[in-house]
Amino acid sequence: LFITFEGGESSGKTTHSRLLKKYLEEKGYEVLLTREPDGAVRDILLNPDLNIVPLSELFLFEAARAQHVKKIVFPALRAGKVVICDRFTDSTVAYQGYGRKLDLQLIDRLNSVASFGLIPVLTIYLDISISEVFLNKSKKLNKKICCDRIERESLQFHERVREGYRSQAEKYPERIKIVKTQETFEKTEALIREIIDLVL
Ligand code: C5P
Ligand code: MG
Repeated sequence: LFITFEGGESSGKTTHSRLLKKYLEEKGYEVLLTREPDGAVRDILLNPDLNIVPLSELFLFEAARAQHVKKIVFPALRAGKVVICDRFTDSTVAYQGYGRKLDLQLIDRLNSVASFGLIPVLTIYLDISISEVFLNKSKKLNKKICCDRIERESLQFHERVREGYRSQAEKYPERIKIVKTQETFEKTEALIREIIDLVL
């Protein structure tokens, strides 16, 4: 069972993927929680001094994905675990496709090659309004908001990313479930559990 979490900056992917892991473990499942990109490629991608150009960014994400799917995700799935992944192919469509305006067909092609055709059975898309993201930031609600990514990009960039996610959700309604983030994380968590219970 391969489940992914998607969403824009500070939408709660990391928090909710951890909570879901706990929930599933309580139900007796063995769970691997993982994320992409990780390791050295993540450090490169998140280093603003490197001035990575969009196409290079795309290839780095895809390179990280191929490695991650083959070495981490597939073995865990073969071992019968539930794999929860914090970001996957839809992030590339949203960020590099809509955000950076790279060719969407190229991205689809690279996504499917780099993931060896692996498609999540369920994707939870955490939809947060951009004004809320900036509000959270000013209130410092999410200390982990990384490297001020929110501020480095324009409001328009974040809006395009959101539009990208929404169009993916429209295109794949069976797989991608939109969860609007609620005023408390407990409420959001309850919505996620309802969806998960239907899938299990
Ligand atoms: O997963 P996390 O939200 O920590 O991602 C780290 C950063 O990588 C985010 O700030 C996001 O903007 C960026 N990212 C990206 N393109 C992707 C995935 C993530 O620019 N495909
Ligand atoms: Mg995160």
